[in-house]
Amino acid sequence: MCKHMIWMRRNRLQYVRFRESARTLVHERINHFNYMYGFEFGRVYIKNHKSRWGSCSRKGNLNFNYKIIFLPSEIADYIIVHELCHLAEFNHSKRFWSHVFRAIPDHKRRRKHLRLIERGRVSRSG
Ligand SMILES: [Zn+2]
Repeated sequence: MCKHMIWMRRNRLQYVRFRESARTLVHERINHFNYMYGFEFGRVYIKNHKSRWGSCSRKGNLNFNYKIIFLPSEIADYIIVHELCHLAEFNHSKRFWSHVFRAIPDHKRRRKHLRLIERGRVSRSG
């Protein structure tokens, strides 16, 4: 898929369609990974964030950017696991990263890849 797809402007209908695809993907991958973790969580929201891929609230709700569906699947998985692990550790401590490591041993490489994708955006718009 063309990398420009990630940052393209979309009309409302396109957004709603992609958001629903993202919802399906996110739920599928949460179920996949949480089979191992067994974390408890609240609701899952798919939103149109400007600059974040995901977040985890103090109440245990998970939020994801719908643009996650335009990322390579291994990067999307990293983002989903990252937020899932915040259910156990509300910080970026060693313990947090050891949870991430269980599902994504090469999380550092994937995070670097994500940063490269993000930088592609910066150089195109500026
Ligand atoms: Zn985090």
